[in-house]
Amino acid sequence: MHIIDAHCDALSKLYLNPRLDFYKEEKELDVSYPRLQKSKVKIQCFAIYMPEQIQQPTFEHVRLMIDIFYKKIIGNHSQMRIVNSIKDFHEIMNTEQTGAILTLEGADALAGNIAYVQDLYQAGVRIIGITWNYANWAADGVMEPRKGGFTIKGKRLIKEMERIGMIVDVSHLSIAGFWELMDMYSKPFIASHSNSAQQCGHPRNLSDDQIRAIISRKGQIGLTFVPYFVKSQQPVQIKHLLVHLDHICALGGEKHLGFGSDFDGIDQWIYGLENSGKFENLIEVLCQNYRETQVEQFLFGNWKLFLLQNLPEN
Ligand SMILES: [Zn+2]
Repeated sequence: MHIIDAHCDALSKLYLNPRLDFYKEEKELDVSYPRLQKSKVKIQCFAIYMPEQIQQPTFEHVRLMIDIFYKKIIGNHSQMRIVNSIKDFHEIMNTEQTGAILTLEGADALAGNIAYVQDLYQAGVRIIGITWNYANWAADGVMEPRKGGFTIKGKRLIKEMERIGMIVDVSHLSIAGFWELMDMYSKPFIASHSNSAQQCGHPRNLSDDQIRAIISRKGQIGLTFVPYFVKSQQPVQIKHLLVHLDHICALGGEKHLGFGSDFDGIDQWIYGLENSGKFENLIEVLCQNYRETQVEQFLFGNWKLFLLQNLPEN
């Protein structure tokens, strides 16, 4: 069974620790080529996320991470290939290659310069999460106490993303920002790594109204493996994640959910889901609870449909 994982932070670890080899099974890397292979992950999204060690992120840092992505993940290897378009998607499906989608988590490093969106697009980025947890020049994140929405410049960023065809990711975005986005952006958008706030009351999770709004826009939600977004009391098992899945299905989202692990962005894990080589445990629990066709859609088919509807032709 193929898998699409909508979010991981392996790039940040490769940036911080140049000795790590993506093509080896490294203890420190949740997501590595051998692990993706083991689980038959067909497409992995890689986020450009500025680790907190970088105190003042600039666009040069973004360029550096894009370099690392091409050198260390895509490399000269034929095993991995970037997926920029519908054409790329179809092509990797006919090969043994694993696809990689490049995303940006937090627009901080763009420093208000909207023209960088075009540079990012040309470099292969196809999805941008507007904020991380706190405020930046574009909008407030979910943890920013003032609970604001978008700035004027942030609204311009969204217009430019819409014009270029860059997909908006609302994971980490403030609630006010979410509803402003609904007013100013008409395309489908995603929450790449968020769960249901009704099932686990963490600010990073989505309210039922937000989930319904994403569904109404033909968007997509990536259920995430961050244990404290699954259940407030630890330890967390895979079956607890299914509560979120059921909840989103009950809201009409059966065709609008998938997974966004957040591997390499976490230091606690769901029992049995400690790295990308362990998806078989998730598949096993899913198959005990859903029909095989549904399981295939949750793991792969729903993201596939979203990408085929929202990536450029070529
Ligand atoms: Zn994140």
